[in-house]
Amino acid sequence: MKIAVLGSTGSIGNSLLNIINKNPKKINIILLTANKNHKKLFKYAKKFNVKNLIITNPQSYKILKSKTKNLKINVFNNYECLNKIFKSKVDYVMSSIVGLSGLEPTLKIIKFTKKIAIANKESIICGWNLIKKELIKYNTEFIPVDSEHFSIWYGLKNSEKNKLECIYLTASGGSIQKTPIEKINKLKIKDLLSHPNWSMGQKITIDSATMMNKLFEIIEARNIFNIEYKNIIVVIHPSSYIHAILKYNDGMIKIIAHDTTMEIPIFNSIFGDKNKKFNSKKINYKIMNNLNFKKVDKKKYPAIKLLKNLPTKFSLFDTIIVSANDFLVEMFLNKIISFNDIYKKIKYVINLEELQKFRNLKPKNVNEIINLNRYVHFKLREKCV
Ligand code: NAD
Ligand code: MG
Repeated sequence: MKIAVLGSTGSIGNSLLNIINKNPKKINIILLTANKNHKKLFKYAKKFNVKNLIITNPQSYKILKSKTKNLKINVFNNYECLNKIFKSKVDYVMSSIVGLSGLEPTLKIIKFTKKIAIANKESIICGWNLIKKELIKYNTEFIPVDSEHFSIWYGLKNSEKNKLECIYLTASGGSIQKTPIEKINKLKIKDLLSHPNWSMGQKITIDSATMMNKLFEIIEARNIFNIEYKNIIVVIHPSSYIHAILKYNDGMIKIIAHDTTMEIPIFNSIFGDKNKKFNSKKINYKIMNNLNFKKVDKKKYPAIKLLKNLPTKFSLFDTIIVSANDFLVEMFLNKIISFNDIYKKIKYVINLEELQKFRNLKPKNVNEIINLNRYVHFKLREKCV
């Protein structure tokens, strides 16, 4: 089996390589990519005997290039080189770059793989029509790897989609799960980065705390499964054991649970059709007896209210909210704005008069998304710096 991993040095990339490490037989990694972390990328290249690496950060590229000088490893600094790397289609690609930077590489690699698993939710939100077009054109299978969306996808397999009434997406409440509203602004960055259930990259950990992550997942679910917003319900479930609930119009309900590890959706995205066994734990009765479902407190998580400001159909307006959030989370992590400012400034951006026209426009190509992303960052830089 031949595979490639975009964003291999992050949390999803690490989980995937951990799975490969446990199931090394006949898996040939053709390409690994990263942005900055040349040390980890080099370590993985040696460990898994990978001959092609892409690293985009110019300084990291220089270092990695000199480190690999006498080794038979090709190092590139952009995604224009894919046709040099892939002589025929590989079996599987994982798209796990963080943020909107993942969209172009994802679009470019679809034609080189039989199956693509996409964790990079920002791509699915902003460029879904473009991704779908490539999937159809190159006959590439798609599997969503966000845990909720993988669960929905799994639950919908072999079931009558037209009977589906609504979907419940669970949200843990992130690192502020137990923090009273008035104390949120006193939390330190390290507190906000400490998620009670998942160990994930910094951006998505902050998105979980603001609940932007769940807003994104609603949009992601609408795009992938073609379900209207009114039929997607978010429910707080602090232990992240149940990932999605599917309610059908014949009265039946499917509750999809798995241990709180991304290795399960990732493992299934690779081996799901191969009848391979994942060594999971017994059902956890303690958690099952304390599911503790609650409505979302909109005062604590105001970002969830932004959904009503968004157009119900897929459009370039979805890019605005992703771009604004990408930029603002970085500003927050760099201590330029406060945690509560993230929501306030997203609200400012989505109300800008000049951006309203994007509510009715769909991206015709990736450049329209990239240019809009740049414009949103420009507007926010004016406002924040
Ligand atoms: P992370 O920050 O841990 O890793 C990001 C990876 O992307 C790294 O390999 C990094 O080198 C690479 N990268 C960053 N910027 C890049 C750029 N400009 N160009 C090329 N590569 C770049 O992130 P993560 O937590 O692994 O999340 C990855 C994606 O998966 C995100 O979109 C996230 O929302 C989604 N996701 C993650 C989880 C999780 O458990 N971590 C769960 C569901 C969905
Ligand atoms: Mg998720």
